[in-house]
Parts: sequence; structure tokens; C-alpha cells
Amino acid sequence: MGVCPLARMPLLRDNFTGPLHPWARPEVLTCTSWGAPIIWDGTFDPDVAQQEAVQQNLTVGLTVFAVGRYLEKYLARFLETAEQHFMVGLRVVYYVFTERPAAVPRVPLGPGRWLRVERVARERRWQDVSMARMRALHAALGGRLGREARFVLCMDVDQHFSGAFGPEALAESVAQLHAWHYRWPRRLLPFERDARSAAALGPAEGDFYYHAAVFGGSVAALRRLTAHCARGLRRDRARGLEARWHDESHLNKFFWIYKPAKLLSPEFCWSPDIGRRAEIRRPRLLWAPKEYALLRG
Ligand code: UDP
Ligand code: MN
Repeated sequence: MGVCPLARMPLLRDNFTGPLHPWARPEVLTCTSWGAPIIWDGTFDPDVAQQEAVQQNLTVGLTVFAVGRYLEKYLARFLETAEQHFMVGLRVVYYVFTERPAAVPRVPLGPGRWLRVERVARERRWQDVSMARMRALHAALGGRLGREARFVLCMDVDQHFSGAFGPEALAESVAQLHAWHYRWPRRLLPFERDARSAAALGPAEGDFYYHAAVFGGSVAALRRLTAHCARGLRRDRARGLEARWHDESHLNKFFWIYKPAKLLSPEFCWSPDIGRRAEIRRPRLLWAPKEYALLRG
């Protein structure tokens, strides 16, 4: 397996990976056809990434939505484990979006770490809560969050950190390989296929299926991403359409057109329900069990 060309470019300044060792994981794909690294445990040097990020005095934003029952159910553990594993040693600003700011748990934060709460409306359907994220993120990125952070990661709340999630995960734009789909043949991936939808991909389109539970990048790149997805969601709604996987379908369309600069292996957002797999060495984030009856009822 060859060395990923992007990883050797001077652009490493904005691509915190340290020296890449794709040959350290010969059993998995470590580079995309367009030259973006796919980072797996062992393919990067976390110390080099950390050094570079510290030198730049980086501030990293982490956004998370906790609306309705998701707040009590998931937010405390998400934040507590983020304190242990997310961008440790860097400046971090959490942005929690909720309709009930007073109910946000007071998780003790380390030095150089802050939490801000943004109020959002409570949508009636869970699909609408999920889809409304793109518009709210776009607004926040154009405001205080965009001024404070150099890079931002946007995450689902129904998961917790289980291993180091550091600056190696940062780049101009970052997409997450979906744990359930990374081994599937491309033609079976659950992209939106209805040509009337703004999220539609043709039969020969789509590189990978990306998971909307983790995406990120620079503020400018995320402004473009959220604008694109919010526009697509709006257009579909005006035509009485809803893409198969909601905001995730539009995210997949965006990353098909504008290729991500870095991909995170499924180790970065793993579902324990899948069971053990040899290539999943050290999961960084673990999905919570889906309790839809309780949450969405
Ligand atoms: N969400 C929320 N309240 C809801 C529905 C969704 O806060 O009622 C947020 C939450 O951050 C959640 C994300 O939107 O993690 C996506 O929804 P969910 O995790 O249920 O979707 P799935 O991961 O099953 O596709
Ligand atoms: Mn989720």
C-alpha cells in the first residue's frame, strides 16, 4: 500500500496527523482515491499531532444537541467522558444546543475548557430535531462559535468517549466512516436514491457512507457544509420530500460533491452491537444502545 499523497504535503499544518504510517495497517484502506488519509489506530503519531496543535494554541469547538429526553439520558456522560478524552491539553469550547438551558448538567471542566449553551426550539418529530441541527449550526458558526474556534467537531449526543480523541482527527473537513456500512459494497449503501430529492445520488455515485454522528472541519468549511445541507433539507420539505436518513443523506451528498480532507475510521465512532472485529483496535467513541421506544415515543 502506497503512502497517502496528501499526508506528505506541507498542508500538514492544517491536517494534524503527524507522520502517517499507512503501512502500519496493511489490512485496511488508509487513503481515499482523491488522496485523503483515512486514519486508523497506529497510522498516526498522536504526540506529533498534539505538539502541532499546542504550538498553534488551537481552540476546538465541540457541538452537541440535547433536546427533549436526550438531555437527561445522554448529555452528562457525553460531557464527562469528553473531559477525559476529547482534545485533552487543548482549548475546548463545548456548545450545547437545547430547549432547556437550565437543565444542562454542571459537569466540572478542566482548565482551558468552557461550555456554552444555545437555546433551540423543540421540534415535535425526532427527525425534525435532527434536521434542524444544520440550520442552528450554520447560525452558531456565523456567530460566537465561529469566532472562538479554529476547528469544530459536530456530534450526536447518544454516545460516549472511550479513548483518546485528539487533534489527529482535525483537518479542513472531516467525515466519519459509518460503523455499520464501511464493509458494504458501494451499490448497497443507503444513500438517498429518489432523484427528486436534493440529497439524491445516482447508482454510480457515492464514495463511502458517512455517519452524521461525527463531522467536522474548519469554521469556513463547516459554514459551507451546513448551508448546503440546510438548503437541501428546505428544498425537499418544500416539495413534500424527506430524504431516507434525513440530515445524514444531505451530508453524504455534500461529501460526494466536496470531498472530505480526512476520514475517520469506524474506530472513531463504533457501535458495540456489531461485536468484535480485528480491525477495530481502540474505539474512541461508543454508540449508546438505541432505546427508541423510550426516547421517541
Ligand atoms: N436529538 C435530540 N433530541 C431528539 C432527537 C435527536 O437531541 O429528540 C439529537 C441528539 O443529539 C441525537 C441526534 O439529534 O444524538 C440525532 O438523533 P439520533 O441519535 O436519535 O439519530 P440516529 O443516531 O439514531 O440516526
Ligand atoms: Mn445518534
